[in-house]
Amino acid sequence: MTAAPAPERRLQLSAGLEAVRERITAACAAAGRDPAEVTLVVVTKYFPPSDVLLLHELGVRAIGENKDQEAGAKIEAVRAVLPPGSDLELHFVGRLQSNKARHVARYADVVHSVDREKLLAGLEAGALERGHRLSVLIQVSLDGDVSRGGALPADVTDLAAAVADRPGLLLKGVMAVAPLDVEPDRAFGALLEVANGLRTNHPEADWVSAGMSGDLEAAIRHGATHLRVGTAILGTRPSLL
Ligand SMILES: *Cc1c(COP(=O)(O)O)cnc(C)c1O
Repeated sequence: MTAAPAPERRLQLSAGLEAVRERITAACAAAGRDPAEVTLVVVTKYFPPSDVLLLHELGVRAIGENKDQEAGAKIEAVRAVLPPGSDLELHFVGRLQSNKARHVARYADVVHSVDREKLLAGLEAGALERGHRLSVLIQVSLDGDVSRGGALPADVTDLAAAVADRPGLLLKGVMAVAPLDVEPDRAFGALLEVANGLRTNHPEADWVSAGMSGDLEAAIRHGATHLRVGTAILGTRPSLL
C-alpha cells in the first residue's frame, strides 16, 4: 500500500470510523441496546504510529494490537508525542506466549487473550513493575480447537479463579473470535452463555469482547460490550496486499 498523505489519510480514517459508528448505532437500535454500553477498540496492527495519532485526533481512545514486538514499539512512539495527560488505552488482543507476558503487561492496559494459567505470573509481574492492576479477559475457544487460542468453556471457571487470586490482575470478562466455520450468531450466543456463567462467581467481570469488521452486528445482538474492529476502519492490512 502506498501511504496516503496525512490529510487524505485523515479523511479515509474519518470516513471508516463514521461508517462503523453508524453500524454500531443501527445494531444497538435493532437490539434495544444503548450504544454507550459498547466500546470500540480500533485494531491498528500492521498500520503505522501516524495512523494511531490520526485516530486519536478523531476521538479514538482504545487501540488494539496483536504482536508484542510491534505493539510495544508503536505505543511507545505514540505516547512519546501525544500531549501529556492524553488518554489512549492499548488493548492486547493477540495470542500471547508466556515468555512475552511480562513485557506486554508493562505497556498494555487490557489483555483480551488470557487462555491459560501459565501466562498469569508473567502478566502480574509486568503489571506490578508498572505499578498498576492489569485488566484481563479470558479468551474462550468456541470450536474446541485450542491450538488457535482460547480456553475451553469448561476450563473458564478454574482459570477465572486463578486470575482473581492474583492482586496484580483485574478480571474483567471474556473474549472470543468467531470460528470461520460457525455462524457468528451461534458463536456469540455460546460466548454469552460463558459470560453469564462467569458472572455468577464474578459479578463485576461483565465485559464481553466480541465482534470484528465482518460480524459486529451479531456480536451486539449477543451482548458484546467491546468490539475489535480493524479493516472496516483502516482498510486492508498492508501485509495482506
Ligand atoms: C485483527 C484482529 C481483529 C480485527 O479484525 P478485522 O476483521 O480487521 O476487523 C479483531 N480481533 C483480533 C483478535 C484480531 O487479531
